[in-house]
Amino acid sequence: MIKKTLIALTCIVTCAVMVQAATPEEYNKVFNEAIGLCSVYKKKCTIEVIEHPKMWAQTGADARIQVSTELLRRMNEAQVRGAIFHEVGHAVMEHVETTSEHIAIQKLNGTFDQEKLYEYMRVNEYRADRFAVLAGFFTFRNVDLKGALTILTPPEEYYNQHKTHPSTADRIKAIDNIFRGF
Ligand SMILES: [Zn+2]
Repeated sequence: MIKKTLIALTCIVTCAVMVQAATPEEYNKVFNEAIGLCSVYKKKCTIEVIEHPKMWAQTGADARIQVSTELLRRMNEAQVRGAIFHEVGHAVMEHVETTSEHIAIQKLNGTFDQEKLYEYMRVNEYRADRFAVLAGFFTFRNVDLKGALTILTPPEEYYNQHKTHPSTADRIKAIDNIFRGF
C-alpha cells in the first residue's frame, strides 16, 4: 500500500541572494489569496509555516500546503505569491493523489518505471508553474515565479539526483512561452 503522505511535491533549495523579504502582513495576505483561489476549485487548502533553515514549499495530500520560514524570510511578496500559487496548482490539480494512483496502477500492471514516474512528476511541475502564472495574470496580482525560481536555484547536480523537477532554466523557458499563444 502506498502512503500518500510519503509523496510530497517538494521544491527544496539553498541560496544566497537576498531580497526585500515579505512582511508577515504581506505573506498572510498571499496565504488568504491562495485559500480563496483553492475555494474557486472547491478545494479546502490549508497553509502551514514550518520553521526550517532551507527554502522550500510543498503540497501533501488533501491540499495541505507547507512553506518554510526561510522561504518567507528571503522572498518578497510577489515571489512568495509565485511559490504559493504554484503549490495551489498542485493542490487543485490533485497532483499528490494522481501521482499515487499512477504508481499504484503501474505497479499493479507490472509496468512501473521510475524514470517514467519522474517524467510524469516533471510535467506536473510545469502545470503548477503555468497555473501560478495564469492565476496571477487573471486576478491582476503580481506573481514573480521566475524571480522565486531564480532565488531557489539549486546546483545542477541537485537536479541530476532529484529528477522530480525540471531544471530552473527549463522552467523559466516554459514560463516565457506561456503568453506566446495569447
Ligand atoms: Zn512543485
